[in-house]
Amino acid sequence: MDWSPPPIYIPHSINNVNGSEYVFTLVMRGVVLDRTELLLKEITEVNGVSGYEREVRRIMARELEGNVDEIKYDKIGSIMGIKKGTSSSPRVMVVGHMDEIGFMVKEITKEGYIKFLPLGGWWGHVALGQRMRIITSEGPVIGVIGSTPPHLLPQKEKEKVLEIKDMFIDVGVQEKFDVKKRLHIKPGDPIIPDSQFTIMGNKKMYMSKAFDNRMACAVVIDVMRRLKRSKHPNTVLGCASVQEEVGLRGAQTLAHLAAPDVCIICDTNIGQDIPPDCFKKEEKLGSGPSILLYDAMMIPNLVLRDLAIQTAESKKIPFHLSYVERGATDGGRIHVSRAGVPSVVRV
Ligand SMILES: [Zn+2]
Repeated sequence: MDWSPPPIYIPHSINNVNGSEYVFTLVMRGVVLDRTELLLKEITEVNGVSGYEREVRRIMARELEGNVDEIKYDKIGSIMGIKKGTSSSPRVMVVGHMDEIGFMVKEITKEGYIKFLPLGGWWGHVALGQRMRIITSEGPVIGVIGSTPPHLLPQKEKEKVLEIKDMFIDVGVQEKFDVKKRLHIKPGDPIIPDSQFTIMGNKKMYMSKAFDNRMACAVVIDVMRRLKRSKHPNTVLGCASVQEEVGLRGAQTLAHLAAPDVCIICDTNIGQDIPPDCFKKEEKLGSGPSILLYDAMMIPNLVLRDLAIQTAESKKIPFHLSYVERGATDGGRIHVSRAGVPSVVRV
C-alpha cells in the first residue's frame, strides 16, 4: 500500500539564463527538496531501460547545455559534453550509464497476460509482486507481476526461485477485455517498476528505482556544472552511456567517440549494511565513495587508483576500498579501447 501523501508542487521561479527551464519548489512529506533532490527525483523516475534511454538522454543534454562547450553523441545514443581547458590533452573522461534494469514485452497471451523479457540482471525474488509500468505508444499502463500462487505449487517447486519466464504481468485481465486493443500494449514496449523517488523517515535516505546508475548521471552533471567557470589544464568529457546493463555496449562506442587519455567510471556499489552483519562492513551508506580494486572485467590502473586514494586522504574525504567478484562496469570496455585507457572506478 502506498501511504505517502502526494507531493505538492509550488511554481517558484525561472532559473535558466535562457529562461527555458521552470523551477518548482517541491514539498515531499514536509521536506522542501533542494536542487540536487529535484534532479534526482526527475532523473530516477523517467523510463530508461537498456535501449530506451531517450528520456534520460534528454535530461542529460538539457543539464549539460550551457555548462560545456560542445555536446556530441555516438550512433547508439550515448552522450558526451566537452569542456575545453587550457590544453586539449589529457582528455579526462567521467562517465555514468543512463540505462536501468527493466523488462520488455515479449508476447501478450490470448487471454491478455503480458509475458516479458528481462533487460539486465533480475533475481526472481525481487521481481515478483512488483507494480510495473508498461510504456505504450498511448501512455503508461500499470500492472503487477504475478505467477502461479504458492498454494497451488508442489512443495519442491515452492522452494525454488521462480524464473522470469514463468511470471506474467496482470494489467487487469478479464474475459472479453481485449488488452491489445483497449490498452495498446505491443511486443517491444519497455517495462519499468512503478516507483516514486521518496525521502524516507530518516531524511538523509532516499528510496527509488534506477539509482544504479542515475546517481552517476547526476554526478556527471554536477561535475560539469562546477567546472563551468573554472580553468583547468586539460579537456574534460562529461559522458553518459547506453546499454551498460546488457553487456557494456554503449561504453564501447562512447570510448571510440571520446578517445580519452584517462577515465573515471562512476557507478553504484553493493551496500552491505544489512543483516546479519549490518554495520561491521565498510560498504555502508554514509561511508563515502568506494575505490574499486577489482571487478570481473577490470583491474584499475594502479597509478590512477593510488592517486585517487592519496587525493581522498589528503583532502580528508571519507572513502573505502572494495571489490566485486561477479559484476563489472563500463570500465570493462573503456580501459581496453583503442591502445588502452588508464581507468579507475569510483562507486
Ligand atoms: Zn550500474
